[in-house]
Amino acid sequence: MNIILKVRETLEKGNIVALTGAGISEESGIPTFRGKGGIWEKFSPEIYANIPGLIGAFLFMPSRIRDFILEFYLTIHNAHPNKAHYILAKMEQRGILNCIITQNVDNLHQQAGSENVIELHGNMLKFRCTKCEKKYTLREKRLEEFIYRLKSASRREIIRLFLPKCECGGRYRPDVVLFGEFLPQDELNRAYMELEKTNSLLLIGTSGVVYPAASLPYFAKERGMTIIEINPYHTALSHLADYTILKKATEALPEIFEHFNEQSQKKFRN
Ligand code: NAD
Ligand code: ZN
Repeated sequence: MNIILKVRETLEKGNIVALTGAGISEESGIPTFRGKGGIWEKFSPEIYANIPGLIGAFLFMPSRIRDFILEFYLTIHNAHPNKAHYILAKMEQRGILNCIITQNVDNLHQQAGSENVIELHGNMLKFRCTKCEKKYTLREKRLEEFIYRLKSASRREIIRLFLPKCECGGRYRPDVVLFGEFLPQDELNRAYMELEKTNSLLLIGTSGVVYPAASLPYFAKERGMTIIEINPYHTALSHLADYTILKKATEALPEIFEHFNEQSQKKFRN
């Protein structure tokens, strides 16, 4: 039996969790960090992905930090969910996908209509007060204004926009996990709890080198779950996978789901 048919057979049983990484959003126009054209080619992660580096950049290279923030938010603003995001959302609506655990910070799963999304590394559109933990989300209009104002902002204005003051006196920051920071414990716990109830893990577009996210497939393997990997290349997790489909997410998922879709419709009619 060919691999697509075998995977389809597994998916038909439902009770699936998807673990997604930067690769699923690549065809939405968001380059993977390590891939060609990725943001770390222009901005060194030693400076721009951790707090001490960012503070230094704010103080001594305000125009560079502005370019970095702008590039990030413009990329996210211009991106739209692709076929793979939509198929995962449909799988949830049909009751065969329990949840998505994502390492992405781009909000595209939610934009595609997925509801149960566990964000291990946060979300660039959400801001959190570092003092009282209050949160807010940059919605479409506010995001546009944020980008517009940032384009000509001075150092002071960059700080005011990017790290705005909360009414409690603290400052908000983007609710994302930087290098050296802990993952949100609640989200990680939820991810493990979801995996405990699951039969199959669908790994999509993750290189499996960023921990602790990359430890989830090991946990799944130990629990005897079926692991299906979708990635154009082999990864550090391929040895755990029962099936590896060496294709882009936007090719593999429609191929698998086309037939699955028809069959579940038949089931609905019966
Ligand atoms: P990664 O950059 O380490 O690896 C991406 C993987 O996706 C690679 O294995 C690559 O072969 C694969 N890939 C590339 N194009 C693909 C496609 N069309 N379909 C399927 N797979 C494809 O990504 P990671 O494992 O998620 O780890 C990177 C970290 O960077 C994560 O923590 C994430 O938070 C962050 N990140 C997020 C975004 C985003 O939110 N969209 C983008 C870049 C990086
Ligand atoms: Zn506050």
